Amino acid sequence: MSRLVNVSNRVILPRAVASAGGLAVGINAAMRESGGLWFGWSGRTVAGAVQTPSARVVRRGSSTYATIDLPRKPFDLYYNGFANGTLWPLLHTFLDRFRFRHEEHEAYLEVNRLFALALLPLLQPGDAIWVHDYHLMPLAAQLRALGVHSAIGFFLHVPFPGFDVWRALPAHASLLRALLACDVLGFQTEPDRVAFVEAVRAALPQCRISGAGSIEVAGRTVLAGVYPIGIDPAAVQAEAAKAAGGGQVHDAGLGLQGRRLIIGVDRIDYSKGLLQRFEAYQHFLETAPQYRSAVTYLQLAQLGRQRVHAYSSMRRALERSAGSINGRFAEVDWTPIRYVNRPFPHETVMGLLRLARVCLVTPLRDGMNLVAKEFIAAQDPSDPGVLVLSDRAGAARELRDALLVNPYDILAIAQALRQALDMPLAQRRARHARLLQALHRHDIRLWQTRFVASLRASQDGQEATGQPLLFAATLPPTQRTG
Ligand code: ADP
Repeated sequence: MSRLVNVSNRVILPRAVASAGGLAVGINAAMRESGGLWFGWSGRTVAGAVQTPSARVVRRGSSTYATIDLPRKPFDLYYNGFANGTLWPLLHTFLDRFRFRHEEHEAYLEVNRLFALALLPLLQPGDAIWVHDYHLMPLAAQLRALGVHSAIGFFLHVPFPGFDVWRALPAHASLLRALLACDVLGFQTEPDRVAFVEAVRAALPQCRISGAGSIEVAGRTVLAGVYPIGIDPAAVQAEAAKAAGGGQVHDAGLGLQGRRLIIGVDRIDYSKGLLQRFEAYQHFLETAPQYRSAVTYLQLAQLGRQRVHAYSSMRRALERSAGSINGRFAEVDWTPIRYVNRPFPHETVMGLLRLARVCLVTPLRDGMNLVAKEFIAAQDPSDPGVLVLSDRAGAARELRDALLVNPYDILAIAQALRQALDMPLAQRRARHARLLQALHRHDIRLWQTRFVASLRASQDGQEATGQPLLFAATLPPTQRTG
């Protein structure tokens, strides 16, 4: 079987996965399944220019980890600029947060070129290459330009917006063209896949699109499919039960003094709907005074991307809001909201999720949202908590037995919170059992095996027909933003 090569912006070595996000957990599961290579940025930047970064290689069992350092200035423009200041808001449909700067776009292309140059010497004939997420949209085209003929797949972990939003990006057509250098394009949900195909139809009329999700471009076929990312429910369940049995989580349980725990676990990001969630909690305390002192809301809010202005201002706004709720409602022996920025080990977070009666997952827009899935898996099935879930998260398409809310509707979130707290045990159990089934239907193993199967099928097809995979990746500068 061909070797699998995962490529993502950041590589996280296995021992560090305890505190890593969804993408790292997913790639590590894929690596456990099939071994192979994981290539990406080391987390370090260096001063001055770098012609071709050389990778540091570490082997662990059947897996190899190869990381590169990147030059500081282009990295900053690529990561904080184009990836997180331009693409992230655009892909999540936040046009008011979106900005476009030519130098950031150029740096994005340049860093993708450095990724391609550094990966090239590590590749072997017959490799299947799986590129992850919006940081690396042009990578496949850059690899093709260097003569790489291997099968290449790209998975978008975040949503894809409607064409009217996408075309706000001056480089919208060239980025679509670059993505079509892949053989397989994967999306979290069917609406994301449809939005992408419609963008191709509108921006690249030379492509032929078939109803089955195939896009024909320059005599090649690109498959656009749906591969919802999942978790390993049994592993999360075991982790949560173990963590809840002692230590910090056990102490947190005692500290509740019989109060019911409402929990939220998010990175600080405007897409997560945290301000609206705080407002909904405030409305809940105002309109349902019988719950005051009877609940505690714990919001874990991990910091990150602090060099992006929107994130530091969001942090200040959240601190103000939490402070104002506590100032208004706290009693000498009761803190209504505990707002914590510190990151915790994954196991501790799973244990805290298990303690909670209600989990609030209310992003304004989210590709999937793994916390929603982790909360369900972490519960004690004999006395499970209730998930309040945004209908604008990818997870809502699978988790139909959660209490689904519009995350902009403060009154609806407050109402769902009351309904969750009042829900009888029999109903909680029945909903939880169905939600757990949904988790098992689309777990992390299925995500990786289905995507890799599509990628290998495309590889076999190309070998059978011997079709060349050359793709004109490097466009003349004048066309770059067209
Ligand atoms: P995103 O990838 O946008 O951050 P997801 O919900 O898909 O959102 O994935 C977030 C991952 O990071 C989950 O596995 C979650 O458990 C973890 N996580 C989020 N916040 C924290 C935190 N404060 N401490 C530790 N882990 C966290």
